[in-house]
Amino acid sequence: MQLTRALFDEVMVPNYAPSPIIPVRGLGSRLWDQQDREFIDFAGGIAVNCLGHCHPVLVNALTEQANKLWHLSNTMTNEPALALAQRLVDTTFAEKVYFANSGAEANEAALKLARKYGNDSGVEGKNQIVAFNNAFHGRTLFTVTAGGQPKYSQDFAPLPEGIEHTAFNDLEAAKALINENTCAVIVEPIQGEGGVVPADLEFLKGLRALCDANGAVLIFDEVQTGVGRTGSLYAYMNTGVTPDILTTAKALGGGFPIGAMITTEHYANKYAVGDHGTTYGGNPLACAVAGAVFEFINTPDVLEGVKQRHQYFVDALNKINAQYGLFKEIRGQGLLIGCVLKDEHAGKAKNIVTLAGEEGLLALVAGADVVRFTPSLIIPMEDIDEGLNRFSRALARL
Ligand code: PLP
Repeated sequence: MQLTRALFDEVMVPNYAPSPIIPVRGLGSRLWDQQDREFIDFAGGIAVNCLGHCHPVLVNALTEQANKLWHLSNTMTNEPALALAQRLVDTTFAEKVYFANSGAEANEAALKLARKYGNDSGVEGKNQIVAFNNAFHGRTLFTVTAGGQPKYSQDFAPLPEGIEHTAFNDLEAAKALINENTCAVIVEPIQGEGGVVPADLEFLKGLRALCDANGAVLIFDEVQTGVGRTGSLYAYMNTGVTPDILTTAKALGGGFPIGAMITTEHYANKYAVGDHGTTYGGNPLACAVAGAVFEFINTPDVLEGVKQRHQYFVDALNKINAQYGLFKEIRGQGLLIGCVLKDEHAGKAKNIVTLAGEEGLLALVAGADVVRFTPSLIIPMEDIDEGLNRFSRALARL
């Protein structure tokens, strides 16, 4: 069988346009393709491969569990799920955990829980959800509607009702929408897909106060920012604002699919037996790997290393930019970094990522105007240097 990029167009549903590069193996922050060409990985599977590729700790956790028990379904619990839930509860504001298989599913669980809470509250019409322009929360019908990019939802009408959007980082605009009929506000502490845009602290504090005043659930979508990405275990820990519900996925499994919604006992108890569920959520394989990821990442050394790498990236990128002058800003936190193109170069992020690929560097876009890096949280310094050399060569060609 000829397994080529052309075959993708023949046999796959055309909802993606993958790169011509087909990696076949990876180690740490390097990947090799079918022709054995080597790539430095600053994409990290879109903020997923937090320990790079094939980290021995994760390979061991997976193979050990694979030799014990793969799957039970939700009719029985299992030890890796219990251990991971205990870890999440011990290290965050949360008291209860619901396991899903992806970020979208974790958000779906959060939004449904908030709706149930509103509907049970005794306040007539308490079912409105406030979300933000340019937000991204996943691709199920509910989460794509909560997302703030109409291009992802408009073709799938009729959409779920009762979701209103307003400008991100505009507290006055949010104040105008949030009232006693609001059951939830959902926000990313840093908009990832929307262009690596950090929320202002005052904005998040203001949302917390508005939710408290109106009895609304504050949901932080930390699918992209969670599990050490910002240099803290979760980004809310940098803000002084504690959400009522937090969703986490991506890096949680380090490459094995898993998501979770974590919350307080007060909100968790709104779900009764049978209200929500999934066959695979809390699967022993996923939870065994995620437990190993969590234990590895949640140490002062690794989290401090993320902050150091952030500064290293930003300093080097500013130096590169002094030469080429393409970017107006390097922004983000930890190892969620956005290089924002100047207005005169708007729309070129994709071209840059394509050229970077040709130079042997895997990077991402975040919208048309931002080149995004979400590498492994333990990427070796020499791989950062070599990746940035390749990035520099791509910019020179542009
Ligand atoms: N929420 C945020 C903030 C995301 O960045 C993403 C994915 O990019 C999602 C939710 C959806 O996660 P998944 O693709 O695992 O469903």
